[in-house]
This record gives sequence, C-alpha cells and structure tokens, in this order.
Amino acid sequence: MHVFFYWRLFEIKHYGKLIIEKNMLSNEKIRHISPGVINKKGCWYCIQCHTQEKRHFYKYFSTLLDKEVVYCRNCINLGRMDNINEVYITETNVNMSQGIYHLPFKLSEQQRFASIKILEAVKNLTSILLYAVTGAGKTEMIFEGISFARRKGYNVAVVSPRVDVVIEVSLRIKAAFRDEAIDVLYQGQRQCHNGHFVIATVHQLYRFKHHFDVIIVDEVDAFPLSMDPILFDVITHASKEHHGHIYMTATPPTKLLRKMKEGSIITLPARFHRQPLPVPQFKYHKIKFHKIQRFLMKLLKQQIEADRYTLVFFNDIQHMKQMYHCYKTEITSLTYVHSEDVLRFEKVSALRKGEYKVMFTTTILERGFTMANLDVIVLNSHMFESSALVQIAGRVGRKLEAPSGLVLYLHEGITMDMLKARKDIKKMNALAHNRGWLDG
Ligand SMILES: [Zn+2]
Repeated sequence: MHVFFYWRLFEIKHYGKLIIEKNMLSNEKIRHISPGVINKKGCWYCIQCHTQEKRHFYKYFSTLLDKEVVYCRNCINLGRMDNINEVYITETNVNMSQGIYHLPFKLSEQQRFASIKILEAVKNLTSILLYAVTGAGKTEMIFEGISFARRKGYNVAVVSPRVDVVIEVSLRIKAAFRDEAIDVLYQGQRQCHNGHFVIATVHQLYRFKHHFDVIIVDEVDAFPLSMDPILFDVITHASKEHHGHIYMTATPPTKLLRKMKEGSIITLPARFHRQPLPVPQFKYHKIKFHKIQRFLMKLLKQQIEADRYTLVFFNDIQHMKQMYHCYKTEITSLTYVHSEDVLRFEKVSALRKGEYKVMFTTTILERGFTMANLDVIVLNSHMFESSALVQIAGRVGRKLEAPSGLVLYLHEGITMDMLKARKDIKKMNALAHNRGWLDG
C-alpha cells in the first residue's frame, strides 16, 4: 500500500500529450479519446502525425478481429496509430518556476540586442526568425526569454531536427538553468519531469498536443527533407493557440524568409568574439580518389606541421573511404567519420583530444561542431549546396583564442552555390562592420 502511494506521488505527469497506454496517467485530465486513426470526411486522418495522405495509410484484413485494420506508416516509429486502439490526449497544465540561470560571462552587444528581441517575442507571443551567423552565440541569446517564460508559467520547448544539436544545446542549457526541471527527449530518452521545459528533437513534438506557449527551433533548416511542411505542422500542433515561435539559423531557406512577417527577421551578422567570418578561398583541383595526389598530400602535411586541425569534407562515403586508405599510409593522424559510423562519437572526441590531426568527413560535421585551431577543406565543392558551404565555413575560427583560419573550396568549376556562399559571408561581415559589432 505504502509503496503504491509513494510511486503515485513521485511519478511524472503527462500534460498536453498523446498517450497510448492509459495506465501511464494518474490525475491528468483527458480531453480527447478516439482511435489513433480516424475517418474524417471520408479520408483517414492520423491523430499523432496529422497526416491525411493516402499513401501513409496501410490496410489489411484481420481475421482475428474480423475487421479491416488501417494504420499510419508515417509515424510508426513513434508508436502505432490504427483505427482499432484508442489513444488519449490530455489537457495541458501550467506550472511556474523561478527561471533562474547562471551565465559565467557577459553577453556581447549583439547578443544583448538579440536577447531583447527574443524577450519581446516571448512576452507578446509572436514569431521571429533569428538569421544569425555561425558562431554568433545563439544559445545564450535565448536564456532571458526562457527565464521570463518559466516565471510566467509558460511551457517552453527548445527543439532541433538534429540529435547532435539537441545533445550539445541541452548540455549548455542545463548548465545554465541548474535548478529547473528540464526534460531532454530524443530517441530512447524518457521524460523524467512534467514536460514544462523540454529540449528535444522536432520528432518528439509529435507526442505533444496544444501544450507549448513558446517553441524555439534551433537549426530550423537542418530538417532532413529541407523545409518539409510536416515540420511546421508538428510545431503548430504541439503549440497552444496563442504561441511564440523563435526560429534560429545561419542559413535560412527562401521559403522560411517568405513565411515570416515583415519586421520579424532579426539579422545577427557578428560572431560573439567580434571577429569577421573567414571568407572561403576557391581553387580549381580535380580530385582523384584512388591515388595520392601530391598537391593534397603536401597541403595536409603543411596543416599538420602548422599545428592546425583539418576537416576535409566529402559528398560521397565510398570516395572518402577510398581516399582514406591511400593517405593513411603517409598520414598516421588521419581518420574518417560518417553518420553510420558506429565509432562516430569516439572518433570525434579523439579529434578533440588531439589524437587525430586530419579528419575526413561527410556533411555530418557541417553543423554543431566547435574546436579551436580548425581549418576546413571541401573536396568537389561544386557538388555542395550554398547552405552546406556556409555551415562548413562556419566551423572555422569560432574560438576567441583562434578566431581565423583556412576555408578552402576545391572545385572543378565555380558554381552559383559557391558564389552565393561567399557573397553571403562577405555581406554579413560588411553588415557587422557597419553596425560596429566587429573589432579592428
Ligand atoms: Zn501518423
């Protein structure tokens, strides 16, 4: 009896959520009960992912139930929704906290400017886009807005399409908001608190319905299918009717720029350390993947001698592996990494420790990776989109102690995307200079 009582007392609450198993709930109010897949005006509709597309539904005849079963394939990895089993949506709930945070350094002038804009958007529950260059120090800009929201009792989510960004950002937010009950949700991670302050992948928002007052979307354009309309659908359904959405990216897609209201795009052209963005250099070079090329070998050796770390970006895993086996014979401090690599995290942390000097990589390291004394080389840069090129260039010079470095695009013909990337970077530097947000 006692054990049961305490278990009840300490269990977590699922507010504003879609729940498959009713025994997960205690005294939460249920506002909706229906099968996970319902028929809406002759079309199937999924309660979890809100799809109505015919191709997302799969039908079969169950002899056991003597019925036709329809289930949603679109969100099957989050738990099966079908026309047989009932699901529950709970009422949202508010809870105020003190929203205290600790920041061991002062914000830059630009960060303070952005922080005020975010605070306004949170106060007025409006939506804004922060067009902030790589290394602008975006995470710290949102702290004041989050703090206000939590004091007010608003439910807050900080989300990103990418797991590695979620992990990185969650470490920094948790270090600042030490006394807040923060739920970090991705893949296998379970909810530990009551979901008033959540850091998660965008995918995890499928579970929340009409719950958040404020959603901050980091790296909004990193969604696998760039700007898939589903992304905005998920965010909208997870939000309350009156909400504030804060989108942040260094490379906003045209669609997003068009979607934003006049005056709601805040451009942040400076890095937090007040040094300009490194400008990419172009060099014509035809890559051979199956043999050592003297130019490249010499370049990599020079990099090592200069005590610089080098990321070499590939657009093809097979080519990358092929080239790794050639260059490995002469460069011992070389490794490679890609998204399916089981040793991915170990290799990246070994690079940080200085165990490797050169890392061949696919675009998985294009975002969210920061280390000092780093240079980047892009092979076949004519095959890359401008947003990827800007993000890759953005890895360089992020630390105050080493604010510059080499960004080299090796190409077989300059493309519009390469030109756009360089133009955007130069434009941001000029803007930062004009606003007096750069030193020197
Ligand atoms: Zn679905």
